Amino acid sequence: MSRRIAFIDRDGTLIWEPGPDHPTPYQVGGLADLRLLPRNLSGLRRLHDAGFDLVMVTNQDGLGTDANPTETFEAVNAKLFEVLASEGLVFDAVLVCPHRPEDDCACRKPRTGLVDDLDFDPDGSIMIGDRESDLQFAEALGVRGYRITDYANWLALVDAALADTAGRTAFIERTTAETSIQLSLQLDGEGRYEGSVANGFLNHLLHLVARHSLIDLTVQAEGDDVDDHHLVEDVGLVLGQALREALRERRGIRRYGDALVPMDEVLCAAAIDLGGRFAFETDYTPERDMVGALSTEMVPHFFQSLAVEAKLALHLRLLAPGRNEHHRIEAMAKAFARALRAAAEPDSRAASSIPSTKGIL
Ligand SMILES: [Mg+2]
Ligand SMILES: [Zn+2]
Repeated sequence: MSRRIAFIDRDGTLIWEPGPDHPTPYQVGGLADLRLLPRNLSGLRRLHDAGFDLVMVTNQDGLGTDANPTETFEAVNAKLFEVLASEGLVFDAVLVCPHRPEDDCACRKPRTGLVDDLDFDPDGSIMIGDRESDLQFAEALGVRGYRITDYANWLALVDAALADTAGRTAFIERTTAETSIQLSLQLDGEGRYEGSVANGFLNHLLHLVARHSLIDLTVQAEGDDVDDHHLVEDVGLVLGQALREALRERRGIRRYGDALVPMDEVLCAAAIDLGGRFAFETDYTPERDMVGALSTEMVPHFFQSLAVEAKLALHLRLLAPGRNEHHRIEAMAKAFARALRAAAEPDSRAASSIPSTKGIL
């Protein structure tokens, strides 16, 4: 994944901005004016710990003129950065527009001239400012914008921003006359599973998928008392929808994944393309009607429902079908999960690109 940047305005955002009645209206006139806004250090620390690079982007009207001397601007920055450094916080870049509105330059926020050369992940990056022009700048960059005045303090703002950019996660709630499902998913997880699913074998299957894909998965699902059809189908659909959401624009992933999984006498091959189009093919032919409370005919239907919603192509081949129904299904679940993990994983050699010659998935 490419870098996550927190673009941060200076005056009125990091530090106090004087009001209209101050000797230097709307301008930090010297070190005596330097005040950090509440919980600023704690908030920046939390951003830093969450993996954000800090980049300052500031409009300094007429910087270098008598009205806004460069020495004052730099003295304030030097003291500010000294304080931040004591907390281990460093700005990777300090980007300054020295112009006035009437100069009509390309670098004054909300214009993006100062940052056009930077490479960053827009979904994971943010802009923090205090003015409408900061939010417009965020919009022009395609990153989430936050206004400090909308929050009690810096820490509250950062907590909100971290929740919004938590990474490749999804939460889906779906209630119909037939089923009620809540599912949350963290693609870059550790394979943790918490399930409360009204079908023991389906619960087992989901547990295997989470464990072998290293996706963290929490599922609560209740069905009707007709049979297992609606429940299995709807859990498949919701899991597929969550995968689609968590994959976002599928930037920087490997896209293709495969796995060859033996389960005792059974050998299953799975191949996945996260290319945004649905396909599902399998040669699985059940020899029993049920495994526990799960109809075996619902197993391919589960994978199909999932693949439809996730917009992925999935091939599941039983190269050695073996003799045991339970083994066959487990082998398919594990092979699917391993292939999914491989396909969804970041490709470090193509970190910010969409893995398609079309440029879109
Ligand atoms: Mg400002
Ligand atoms: Zn400029």
